[in-house]
Amino acid sequence: MDDSSCAENLSSQNRSASCNGSTAGGPEDAFKYFRGHTARCLEFAKQAKDKGRKIIGIYCEFTPRELILAAGAVPICLCGGSQSTISAAEEDLPNNLCPLIKSSYGYIKQGSCPFFEMAEAVVAETTCDGKKKMYELLSDRKKLHILELPQKPDQEQAYRHWLAEVKQLRDFLEELCSVKISDEKLRRSIRVLNSERSLRQKVYAYGAYNPPYLRGTEASLLAGRIAGMPSDEAAYKELLEALEKRRQNAQATAAGEAVRVLVTGVPMVTGAEKLLEIIEQAGGAVVAQENCTGIKPVAEPVAEDGDPIEAIARKYFALPCSCMTPNNRRLELLDELIELYKPQVVIDLVWQACHTYNVESLLVRKHLADKHGLSYLKIETDYSPSDREQIAMRVQALLEVANSGGSQVG
Ligand code: SF4
Ligand code: SF4
Repeated sequence: MDDSSCAENLSSQNRSASCNGSTAGGPEDAFKYFRGHTARCLEFAKQAKDKGRKIIGIYCEFTPRELILAAGAVPICLCGGSQSTISAAEEDLPNNLCPLIKSSYGYIKQGSCPFFEMAEAVVAETTCDGKKKMYELLSDRKKLHILELPQKPDQEQAYRHWLAEVKQLRDFLEELCSVKISDEKLRRSIRVLNSERSLRQKVYAYGAYNPPYLRGTEASLLAGRIAGMPSDEAAYKELLEALEKRRQNAQATAAGEAVRVLVTGVPMVTGAEKLLEIIEQAGGAVVAQENCTGIKPVAEPVAEDGDPIEAIARKYFALPCSCMTPNNRRLELLDELIELYKPQVVIDLVWQACHTYNVESLLVRKHLADKHGLSYLKIETDYSPSDREQIAMRVQALLEVANSGGSQVG
């Protein structure tokens, strides 16, 4: 199947919902909403656009979505998880670039990301070099606003610069959407997105039980494309009720002896979740995901008191991405997640040619060994399925060592 368009991705997600053996009325039913989220987002975006709302494309968790919502616009994560768009991208981009960047660019080159097509503008950031330069190539297709992200998270001066950038984004959005972004509107959007963060965290918490009541492949469905969609709140609440029923009925999602795995590293956007599938097929239980498609963006709320734009700037500036130096907050977040989710092993996913996550993996590995004595495995891969067997063998070996009570660093 050619999965190069979002609509096609969606129909495959819906199919997998029924292939997974969902039973009408059973707990898995509650996930159907999230499995069908891309199509729902597309429909929502079309209707919003018809009503005159601006669509704003985004690529990264540093984008302060609260500002876009407060401008009356719709923030949408653009497509970037398909292997099938990479060959088109490689006609223009170097082969040794991260698949996330190549796939994102390929979607746009092929005109197969419907969200980009309907977007009024794209808001992006100076995070890693490949992404930053790829954005320049988009500038003749779409209005671009680039936030310059200072990369020393512990320096107040760097934060002040970021705050000025966030204020510039507010000015850009006010002009684009012909609105005034008042503090009151900002506070409202902060509350909406904090509530969504809190609901997502409550769902993730079902992975903390032993045995767990949430699969990693289920948790990955929650990283939706559109933040603050009104129908999401009820869906989260329904999902939480279903998970609670699953817990009360002792319907664990993995056997008690399954090795508990914490996944860290690069984001796994829709379509690029092969590592999660491999771990679960090997009998492991992915209990937590410390990455941008997991817990990282929802770990901290935006403060609801004080100046709202400063609160927004503070929250996003604290995001522990590997483009920051030093990125000690990632290690601190890992400490918290290890305490909460009690993993037996950590798997660090690095997309090929992602230099920041690749180099940082040494610090992560040392930290996990020195402070926690945890087994660690780094997987460096791309979107292609060609190395699935090889990855599966390495994961299987890690799980066997953990099962036998040993430890492994690889
Ligand atoms: S890992 Fe970093 S660059 Fe990638 S989405 Fe997250 S914050 Fe953005
Ligand atoms: S995975 Fe790494 S190289 Fe790819 S976009 Fe994210 S930070 Fe950049």
